[in-house]
Amino acid sequence: MSHVFHRHLKQHYPTAVGGEGPYLIDTDGRRYLDACGGAAVSCLGHSDAEVIEAIREQVGQLAYAHTSFFTTEPMEALADFLVERAPEGLSSVYFVSGGSEAVEAALKLARQYFIERGEPERRHLIARRQSYHGNTLGALATGGNAWRRRQFEPLLVEVSHVSPCYAYRGQAPGETPETYGERLAQELEAEIQRLGPQRVMAFVAEPVVGATLGAVPAVPGYFKRVREICDRHGILLILDEVMCGMGRTGSLFAAEQEGVSPDLVTIAKGLGAGYQPIGATLVSERIRAAIAEGSGFFQHGHTYIGHATACAAALAVQRAIESRDLLPRVRRLGDELQRRLEDRFGEHPHVGDIRGRGLFRGLELVAERADKTPFDPSRKLHADIKRTAMDHGLMCYPMGGTLDGQRGDHILLAPPFILEEYHLDEIVDKLDATL
Ligand code: PMP
Repeated sequence: MSHVFHRHLKQHYPTAVGGEGPYLIDTDGRRYLDACGGAAVSCLGHSDAEVIEAIREQVGQLAYAHTSFFTTEPMEALADFLVERAPEGLSSVYFVSGGSEAVEAALKLARQYFIERGEPERRHLIARRQSYHGNTLGALATGGNAWRRRQFEPLLVEVSHVSPCYAYRGQAPGETPETYGERLAQELEAEIQRLGPQRVMAFVAEPVVGATLGAVPAVPGYFKRVREICDRHGILLILDEVMCGMGRTGSLFAAEQEGVSPDLVTIAKGLGAGYQPIGATLVSERIRAAIAEGSGFFQHGHTYIGHATACAAALAVQRAIESRDLLPRVRRLGDELQRRLEDRFGEHPHVGDIRGRGLFRGLELVAERADKTPFDPSRKLHADIKRTAMDHGLMCYPMGGTLDGQRGDHILLAPPFILEEYHLDEIVDKLDATL
């Protein structure tokens, strides 16, 4: 019996012992094509020599220094790298160890910002239904998945949820993407009015929704309208790019493609690409300045924030993405993957929609294509697909949107940026065999 407390206590897992580019290898020597980067993590694939060398060098020089005593060179260099490339207005970076921690830090930065400004009543958060922002208590409260939240209620953060921007199911007959986006903007405005604008702290959303919807970008103009509404009411805009950031959608930050400047941005998965656990919250200058000029102390922290080796690994990953010119490759291979998925599954009776950006693609599964009827959630289709794909040597990321009593089983694809074109065929063939 395993003495590891596995999350799925009734499931058997193969033992991974090696990784080679886009493949993972188990103890029997079986190779699995990693078409989801684990959970959109492994953007450089496995065993990248440059990253391994950077980690080795940093561990040899200085593995760790506690941030209440020192700053370190890799932490400073990584912050410089990110801020130089971040959307306008973001001027500093708070380093943590993963996505949920990044979201927690963003929530507490937002709260402390308003406390420093003498507006402590601004503590209500607005997020979206069918969203996931992490599993720690604040991040769990933020996420709009009733099934995940239910057994832990009452949660610690005051949150209400509005509709996600999900054109495949949300856009009504007769609506254009523009009028649909405008209807969602009105819904947000109405929710702010219902709560009272002076009570609302922030609006949180993923620019391209990952795990819960399956690579769903917003309709054009949606985030610009959200930014306008937030600005009008003095509400902060937090973009969660834990999954869709760091080049996954073809630009370093997904927000770039929306043309908006958020107040806080969370990043994680692709930042360290799995070589070290790391996440970060990018902070706008007005938030940093309010805290710096106020109490001068962010009331939050963990032992491993700004871990020197994790920062060195992430810096090596991000420099590799840049020096190898991988972002144009993400855009090109992403378009090619979309084309091949459409060629193969465009007429499939159980594939209702194929969407995404860059190497972040989703297939929505339906019982009936014509009227988008979802599968019965009790079927737990996602579990079957995951297992069957593994039997075919493919790692993909299926999820049941139906978990929330909402619609939409889907498969998320988020392969490494280093793929060759022939890997796209392997993904499509193995997915076909799985379906
Ligand atoms: N935000 C988003 C959008 C995510 O997809 C995730 C992880 N799936 C998280 C936050 C939480 O990140 P972590 O699992 O690293 O805590």
